[in-house]
Amino acid sequence: MKSRKLLMIPGPIEFEPEVLSALGQPTTSHVAPNFIQSFGNAMRMMRKVWLAPTGQPFIMAGTGTLAMDMAAVNLIEKGDKVLVISTGYFGLRYAELLLRYGAEVTFLQSEVGDVVPLEMIEDELKKGDYKLLTFTHVDTSTAVMVDPKPIGKLALKYNVLSILDGVCSVAGEEIRQEEWGIDVVLTASQKAIGVPPGLALLVASKKAMNVWKNRKTPVANYYSDWSNWLPIMQAYESGNPSYFGTPAVNLVMALEKSLEIILDEGMDVRFARHQLMAKAFREAMKAMGLKNIPINDEVSAATLSAPYYPDGITGGQMLAQVNIEGVILAGGLLPEIKGDYFRIGHMGSINRADTLATISAIEVSLKKGGHIFEEGVGVKAAQRVLS
Ligand code: PMP
Repeated sequence: MKSRKLLMIPGPIEFEPEVLSALGQPTTSHVAPNFIQSFGNAMRMMRKVWLAPTGQPFIMAGTGTLAMDMAAVNLIEKGDKVLVISTGYFGLRYAELLLRYGAEVTFLQSEVGDVVPLEMIEDELKKGDYKLLTFTHVDTSTAVMVDPKPIGKLALKYNVLSILDGVCSVAGEEIRQEEWGIDVVLTASQKAIGVPPGLALLVASKKAMNVWKNRKTPVANYYSDWSNWLPIMQAYESGNPSYFGTPAVNLVMALEKSLEIILDEGMDVRFARHQLMAKAFREAMKAMGLKNIPINDEVSAATLSAPYYPDGITGGQMLAQVNIEGVILAGGLLPEIKGDYFRIGHMGSINRADTLATISAIEVSLKKGGHIFEEGVGVKAAQRVLS
């Protein structure tokens, strides 16, 4: 594959050949016994990847935004108070989505590159009356990582349901849904889960399912309503055919394969691998004189990096040069600083060779763009971390 470029954006990512080959199997009926088995296996494996042994998994055709939609619309009713904790672009999306369903939203926005202080969250929760809070584990627009553990604890303390947007984190960043008391952890297939775009995935706690069961009003979105989907999930898991909407057969077969690969690696090993690759990228950027958006390592994601362009480097030109060097990176996303930074995805199947090749392509492109630094320092810094 001489002309193949390394896809290093924060989703979709590089997929494992076995996953792509599972995707390319002949499509079976969505009620064929082998497909029902794959679907059931995928659900059982999701509980292990999410570390939520008693959670209820949902596998839907759709994107991460559908998973956000499904979690919200099943848990809130018109007029419910929701606290949205935002570290960037996707926090704002959650607020807009919730408003559409009639939630009363309070929006806590962090400074760019930082997280919302826990005291501020607690002060808000103390005011009482909140039914739900949402937060983004890794905001893909800033590469800021929020530690879910203390927020899960606060949600339990104030008896508020919690939704974690894990689109850019599940199977890359450490998540222990049940131990940390988070009610819904949601994601999409195209990121650290390692399956081409097209699946919305979430696991809901028993508490969340009970809140949904005890609703007073119907769910405000027909397609996302768990009344339609829970019986299907339960049927597939118990090995029985069922139908509400046609599942994405091939993507589910690919999901089964990818979850197998993830669990074969082991969750702790996988989290540690992501940490190591992220550190290599951070150190490389620093060595080349680039500043990352996250203000320190503690709030930096393991799944992507977001460095500012150095003075004198223009984004479009640099990304085009990186592409010529054989690597695809992403531009900025946060509207207020969109043109000032770029993003490197490093999740899922990423290995040392991908990391070094990407840093090398960045280094060459910065040099060609006129940025002054000692040649080779980026790759060297990464090598030091990786060895
Ligand atoms: N939340 C986060 C943190 C994301 O990174 C994304 C996608 N980049 C989404 C939500 C939305 O997912 P999708 O594009 O699959 O709808």
